[in-house]
Amino acid sequence: MSATLEKLEQLYEGKAKKVYKTADPERYIVSYKDDATAFNGLKKGTIVGKGAINNRMSNYLMQKLEEAGVPTHFVEELNDRETVVRKVTILPLEVIVRNVAAGSFSKRMGVEEGSALRCPILEFSYKNDELGDPFINDDYAVALGLATREDLQTVRDYTHKVNEFLKAFFLGLNIELVDFKIEFGKTGDGKIILADEISPDTCRLWDATTHEKLDKDRFRRDLGGVEDAYQEVMRRIFG
Ligand code: UDP
Repeated sequence: MSATLEKLEQLYEGKAKKVYKTADPERYIVSYKDDATAFNGLKKGTIVGKGAINNRMSNYLMQKLEEAGVPTHFVEELNDRETVVRKVTILPLEVIVRNVAAGSFSKRMGVEEGSALRCPILEFSYKNDELGDPFINDDYAVALGLATREDLQTVRDYTHKVNEFLKAFFLGLNIELVDFKIEFGKTGDGKIILADEISPDTCRLWDATTHEKLDKDRFRRDLGGVEDAYQEVMRRIFG
């Protein structure tokens, strides 16, 4: 049973999380760190309490998404920082959704941050640190064997559901969901499920009234109040 699962050998250490094997070959344990990086690892720091916040928030949202019809890797929260998840092979794609212009989109397209978009944009990057996660389209992904057309259609369908759910959820907290990045994985039996995390590290969240940034841009751009911003999002979700 997952309740008795313990961390065995560390499989992988990423920028924000560690992943461990367990005695169950179909389950991993992820452990969230307070480490923060930006600009492909060039900027490094610590956001005190971030690991626990991202763990709890991501698990909560994944459970809500599961109820909304999006299968996820979430199995069981073990403690503050650690969660049992389903073992998947991550598709090497960063799936980005934009509801409002910001970040690299604003830079690339010469559109002021905060400008409205006529429809949400779904875009893909190839998850590859050496190449700086380059922007790709469906043909790139299929031609390079990163995913099949069918995989991409499933990813698109789930991603639209994720966006509709999260937009409404955050708006209920007076937060505007500007953009976000998600990742999907494939289970042993070939099913695509939502994996990785959903947190202020991976979403741009602006107060809907003041447009104050409540996400990792405070760290990226040295705006100060990083910890407070993460805690504010937690307060609005959990009271
Ligand atoms: N994002 C992320 N990881 C990445 C790149 C982007 O979580 O490696 C998130 C980022 O927090 C934002 C959205 O994806 O919510 C869009 O990011 P963008 O492409 O604008 O890149 P950035 O400006 O962060 O470099």
